[in-house]
Amino acid sequence: MRNHGGRAPLVVGTGIAGLYVALRCRELGLRPTLVTKSRLDEATTRYAQGGIATALGPDDSPALHLKDTLRAGAGLCDPAAAKVLAYEAPARIADLVRYGVPFDTVEGQVSLGREAAHSRSRILHAGGDATGLSIEETLKRRVLDAGIEVRERTALRSLRSAGSAGVAAVLSGEHGKNAEEVEAGPVVLATGGAGSLYRQSSNPSVATGEGVAIAFRAGAQLTDMEFVQFHPTVFWREGAPRYLITEAVRGEGAVLRNEAGERFLLGQHRDAELAPRDIVARAVNREMERTNHPCVYLDATAIPRDRFYARFPSVCRFLATYGLDPSRDWIPVTPVAHYMVGGVTTDLEGQTSLRGLYACGEVASTGVHGANRLASNSLLEGLVFGERVARQLVHPVARALPAPGRTVTVSWPPGSGRGNLAAAFERVRDLLWEDVGIVRVGSGLRAALVEFAELGKSTEPGRSTEPPGPVANAVLTASLIARAALTRTESRGAHYRSDFPVRRPRWRIHIGLVKA
Ligand SMILES: Cc1cc2nc3c(=O)[nH]c(=O)nc-3n(C[C@H](O)[C@H](O)[C@H](O)COP(=O)(O)OP(=O)(O)OC[C@H]3O[C@@H](n4cnc5c(N)ncnc54)[C@H](O)[C@@H]3O)c2cc1C
Repeated sequence: MRNHGGRAPLVVGTGIAGLYVALRCRELGLRPTLVTKSRLDEATTRYAQGGIATALGPDDSPALHLKDTLRAGAGLCDPAAAKVLAYEAPARIADLVRYGVPFDTVEGQVSLGREAAHSRSRILHAGGDATGLSIEETLKRRVLDAGIEVRERTALRSLRSAGSAGVAAVLSGEHGKNAEEVEAGPVVLATGGAGSLYRQSSNPSVATGEGVAIAFRAGAQLTDMEFVQFHPTVFWREGAPRYLITEAVRGEGAVLRNEAGERFLLGQHRDAELAPRDIVARAVNREMERTNHPCVYLDATAIPRDRFYARFPSVCRFLATYGLDPSRDWIPVTPVAHYMVGGVTTDLEGQTSLRGLYACGEVASTGVHGANRLASNSLLEGLVFGERVARQLVHPVARALPAPGRTVTVSWPPGSGRGNLAAAFERVRDLLWEDVGIVRVGSGLRAALVEFAELGKSTEPGRSTEPPGPVANAVLTASLIARAALTRTESRGAHYRSDFPVRRPRWRIHIGLVKA
């Protein structure tokens, strides 16, 4: 293994994963460059409310955190990766404390919240429900203080394998202007998820899954792309932004009711509102269909007002703008696309199948989440595997990339580049939501794939020398999600097929996608 001749790493993305990797690289003596297609402070990370999971309580242990993570993953977690996540978590939280993240405390002890499918209270939070913002602001300050070069409004457009030199990256400014190929070296993808490709989503607009499409085009293997997690409780009102009401609200005792006031989750799962996310999301979806009502309601009126306002100040401020007081009013909520479980396949050190290309954070498929992510494990994943990527860049160790049980080869031909890009993007969002959403069926997936292929023909550039733009990448990522979802003829974790509604033992394997 070589350490890329000491070449400076290019880190793409300024969420928790990218900021943390860049910082740790700097501390380990490297000179990373950090780029983001948007502003330094616009990433999904800042919207994370609930917190970050770590076994710190007196009744808790990494072994219990691991057990909960494996259970949520519905038989598909990579146990070695999940073990790394749970056992290295306390050290990474110590790093955040060292950097100055002001985690909330009660009487001098760190305050630990409870969330769905966690058997213990282990969610650290900051500013009540402003955990992501607090982490991002702290890491951002540290990155700037460390003098790390940051290039805002600079998008990664394509990658090309350059053998032992690493990976050559094409970057461009806004609207694809001033494209430049930077010298080949190690590249760390920290480009986040794809949630905003769905019509209904909790994610900010930067979350378009571009890193997945770019890595796939360059020849990297993807895994688990069919697993898209839907969050069950996002604020619903016509024309209002899709503001997430964190799961921690249910952890504090809020319950879900239909319009008639019935707790429809009782009797569906022994943990009722604290059942795993996929179960709650599908139950909400079913209830909305059954009652033909556009939302269900989160009833937090049993939680003492002072406690609710202290723990969830941002949620309260948001609700107040709609004239709602959670100590008195039920909160209208609906499920939306939230988290991309799969992504670019990595080993335990963040190395992808492409030499010199690393991935961490939501864009990576490390195997920790299996078929369904345990709440508050994703900020943590960015840190734990970000640390491993930084160390790997300095002291490489050889690992074997996990081999998927089934590999699907996907061809994606060049197009004319003459399509209406804005219309194509909107169509992608509708198709994903309608046909590749909470409940999927083979006929819908096949129809979506046909349309994605058509959209690909008009959005892919005509010339092979021209890197595909964001809309072409959106179409490709959407198509890859649908392809994996069609391949998996069972229901497991976040992936539910109404034509194959049960879990099948023979599908306890990962689906890999590679370019033809
Ligand atoms: C509303 C909400 C609440 C959440 N709550 C929690 C929670 O409580 N706990 C938890 O653990 N997780 C939570 N999550 C999930 C978690 O926030 C994300 O998984 C995590 O922040 C992802 O971090 P990241 O660094 O991988 O990516 P991001 O934070 O999304 O950052 C991606 C970066 O990549 C950049 N980028 C993308 N494409 C390109 C490109 N082509 N070129 C250059 N730059 C590019 C983006 O601009 C951005 O800077 C929540 C998510 C949402 C949406």
